[in-house]
Amino acid sequence: MAYVYDDTNIFARILRGEIPNKTVYETEHTLAFADIAPKAPAHVLVIPKGPYVTYDHFCAAASAEEIVDFSRAVAEVVKLVGAEAHSGGKGFRAITNAGEHGVQEVPHFHLHILAGRNIGPMIL
Ligand code: C5P
Repeated sequence: MAYVYDDTNIFARILRGEIPNKTVYETEHTLAFADIAPKAPAHVLVIPKGPYVTYDHFCAAASAEEIVDFSRAVAEVVKLVGAEAHSGGKGFRAITNAGEHGVQEVPHFHLHILAGRNIGPMIL
């Protein structure tokens, strides 16, 4: 089934500069910004600049350059919020919601990085 990207979604509007955001980190292919309703002391959304609806869409359709750029941006964000669990930081949780059953609100792929407190067990 083909993915249909709705370019009126709020993150597309942020990428076009129509809505302000608190940018944390930016590269050619990736933007990271503070979540407007943070669920942890550090709550950053990392998004590709390309028109990808969900994580699986991004993994299937993005170029290797975009995927590497995104992955490195995630690492930079984790470092910026001081959560590098592999080198002394206290760690983080990364979450992505996809589609109806994932309860995705904004139909532009985004990875939530939550840090700065113990996020607790994964509750379903
Ligand atoms: O994963 P999901 O699509 O449910 O999450 C969307 C996230 O986008 C929410 O955490 C919400 O607070 C955030 N958001 C934002 N800025 C907006 C609109 C939504 O950071 N203008």
